[in-house]
Amino acid sequence: MRDILVVGAGQAGLHLAIGLLQQGYDVTLVSNRTPESIRDGRVMSGQAMFGTAQARERELGLDWWAGVCPPIDGIALTVPAPDGGKALDWAARLEVPARAVDQRLKMPAWLAEFERLGGELVLHDATPDDLERYAARHDLVLVAAGKGQIASLFERDAARSPYDAPQRALAVTYVNGLLPRPCHSAVCFNLLPGVGEYFVFPGLTHTGPCEIMVFEGVPGGPMDCWGDVRGPAEHLARSREILETFFPWEAERCAGIELTDAGATLTGRFAPTVRRPVAVLPSGAPVLGVADVVVLNDPITGQGSNNAAKCAAGYLRAIVERGAQPFDADWMNRTFDRFWTQARHVTDWTNALLAPAEPHHLSLLGAAGQSQEIASRFVNGFDDPADFADWFMDAGRAEAYLSRVAA
Ligand SMILES: Cc1cc2nc3c(=O)[nH]c(=O)nc-3n(C[C@H](O)[C@H](O)[C@H](O)COP(=O)(O)OP(=O)(O)OC[C@H]3O[C@@H](n4cnc5c(N)ncnc54)[C@H](O)[C@@H]3O)c2cc1C
Repeated sequence: MRDILVVGAGQAGLHLAIGLLQQGYDVTLVSNRTPESIRDGRVMSGQAMFGTAQARERELGLDWWAGVCPPIDGIALTVPAPDGGKALDWAARLEVPARAVDQRLKMPAWLAEFERLGGELVLHDATPDDLERYAARHDLVLVAAGKGQIASLFERDAARSPYDAPQRALAVTYVNGLLPRPCHSAVCFNLLPGVGEYFVFPGLTHTGPCEIMVFEGVPGGPMDCWGDVRGPAEHLARSREILETFFPWEAERCAGIELTDAGATLTGRFAPTVRRPVAVLPSGAPVLGVADVVVLNDPITGQGSNNAAKCAAGYLRAIVERGAQPFDADWMNRTFDRFWTQARHVTDWTNALLAPAEPHHLSLLGAAGQSQEIASRFVNGFDDPADFADWFMDAGRAEAYLSRVAA
């Protein structure tokens, strides 16, 4: 059987590696972290996953937490008003609830499944030289190393990457004791133009159900305030201070919060970057980039894990369809292009939300407060961001859509 090597045991790498084993391929997975170091380490993400991405996992029998992870039933949007009240405040339900399973729980379990199915796990921090060795010995090398340094082997695609610097200072805080939202659970998305965004939603971690807080501060602004924080207790205190200052209705839910565990906090920043899908090694051998390696978006729209699952599922299908033919650079580019037909909408929409809002975005988000149809379409677009091209991304289409709804 054909022999495939995957670098990176994250959302995309494990999905692909397990899917390939299930199809009878010989698979080697190179991970720079042991299952124990992932499990006992820091949180890595918010990883809310919507219906389509969950379905891709379910197709492989990998949705092991669906019954225990609290569902995220909808999305709520709140924009503060200058007087301290709310300028916008609406919510709608998702057609399929989203779920956020801590990657510290998921990846070690999937690694065990990978080995149970007969995959070869190599614990190693792969270098470009290693890729040469791997490419000489395997029919196909896939690089699913996320934000790892090795991704820089893939050339940045300037035409598809409008930003060359981080657009948000990021922080994550996993907590227990946060008061639930009334009515139905949701990603509570709070947006303060010029300052940043705060969103919070239920998830599942080691210790059971929790709430996941994500902070996105505009660089240089008052929510870009994590540099002097020393240790988890200060991180929790800074999380509260931000809410008390900018989103007091969210602070009210936090009177009894505590961190879920010692690794419950994360800070960082990165530039959203699309890269060329194929890196050609000095020997001339091509290797194919996967998920965040080639399409890295800011987490403001919560799409990275979704993209990773969709990318892995698409690549898996393409590998199987390829049969015994060579995995050459042409095939790699076509395989990525098929993924990009969907992923480009995620990138366009995510990059648009990082920029100051266009007038038609404000009109649509304002109208959603009066129209459940608009609110519902926006909310369900998180599962299929391609839909935004038809009504949200373009001023003319937005106006036509608003007129249709009004009629
Ligand atoms: C603050 C924050 C919040 C987020 N919230 C969400 C959300 O709500 N919803 C959502 O869908 N996405 C979210 N994401 C994004 C999501 O976590 C990622 O996009 C997703 O995990 C990408 O999957 P991946 O497989 O490409 O990379 P990763 O999951 O990052 O996996 C890459 C793996 O490769 C390993 N690796 C790296 N270099 C090497 C090497 N040289 N050799 C061997 N192994 C290597 C890494 O250790 C890691 O295990 C968020 C991200 C952040 C930072």
